[in-house]
Amino acid sequence: MIYLDNAATTKTAPEVVEAMLPYFTEYYGNPSTVYSLGNTAKKAVNEARRTIAEAIGAKQEEIYFTAGGSEADNWAIKAAAEACAQKGKHIITTKIEHHAVLHTCQYLEKQGFEVTYLDVDQDGLVDPEAVRAAIRPDTILISVMYANNEIGTIEPIAQIGAIAKEKGVLFHTDAVQALGQVPLNVDELSVDMLSASAHKLNGPKGIGMLYIRQGVKIRSFVHGGTQERGRRAGTENVPGIVGFGAAVRRAVKRMEEKAAKEIELRDYLIGRIQAEIPYCRLNGHPVRRLPGNVNFAFQFIEGESMLIMLDMKGICASSGSACTSGSLDPSHVLLAIGLKHEIAHGSLRLTLSEENTKEEMDQVVEELKKIVQRLREMSPLYEDFVKKQKA
Ligand SMILES: *Cc1c(COP(=O)(O)O)cnc(C)c1O
Repeated sequence: MIYLDNAATTKTAPEVVEAMLPYFTEYYGNPSTVYSLGNTAKKAVNEARRTIAEAIGAKQEEIYFTAGGSEADNWAIKAAAEACAQKGKHIITTKIEHHAVLHTCQYLEKQGFEVTYLDVDQDGLVDPEAVRAAIRPDTILISVMYANNEIGTIEPIAQIGAIAKEKGVLFHTDAVQALGQVPLNVDELSVDMLSASAHKLNGPKGIGMLYIRQGVKIRSFVHGGTQERGRRAGTENVPGIVGFGAAVRRAVKRMEEKAAKEIELRDYLIGRIQAEIPYCRLNGHPVRRLPGNVNFAFQFIEGESMLIMLDMKGICASSGSACTSGSLDPSHVLLAIGLKHEIAHGSLRLTLSEENTKEEMDQVVEELKKIVQRLREMSPLYEDFVKKQKA
């Protein structure tokens, strides 16, 4: 098997699993109890909190554990909207956000909020000056993702953060694809809130966090006990939190080496595809992109068919259409960068890890060449195109 879907999820690292296991079997105490079994769990939770805080230049008290990236995004946006509703009801975000942000914004629109969805350029970049221009006296929140999960484009978050700070507007970033991949510092970025998720950096699924800058007043997400300083009640997911901490520690240590390796493989794969498969387009920014992200649109074919044929060769990838999720619409991200529907449908995302090899990249290119050719031979669009070319 060749796994090229690391933007969807990553393999939990063996050392992360090892760090978690004792918190199922031995130190299973509830962190809120007074005896030492619970205290051991509490210490482990705090240590993970410290590790994660340090990794993003935050204070320990500013890290709130959640059940993942989607929950963190929901919390940040809904709670900020509710807390600031007296000041205004206008929110700024972009057309390329993850659904956890987009659908939350759409929900708020139904509650009477107004949302501006900013355009991006053909590489998927948000223009900080467009953010500035969209700010109104009643703007209460700006939410722009750090790096896009489909096309890998890395946004100018520090510049947008500086504008938000200057204008006194709360600023949230979904950094789920960025944590562990690129260095992050909440002060340099001037962010008030930042979402992250463990399973995108070789940690376990179902655990994430929201960074909330000290002094930012947003309501609790889950009401109940005093866990997470009363803002997100519920007995802590101790093994998950320990795993998240271990994953962040591991990712920070090897970030440079991992990025260098992935960039080399990425650029090799991009180069071979561009050179050997005609009528394709690289989606996303050529250089401001995540180390492991490759996304191509292949003309005249369906991404879903490519996925099925790649799967038969043991290659796990992802497409630019959402047919698998029961919708016929192509990806909103690919439409936002200006792709026509039929071209967006022919998109393929390959997201690498440092465990991939050059041999695997070669194998993928060889299979892909055959698959693209076979699908084009069956495509009436391609047939028309070839006829027109000959005429
Ligand atoms: C995966 C992802 C999420 C959702 O995180 P979960 O932990 O799976 O809920 C949110 N935003 C982005 C950019 C993602 O890639």
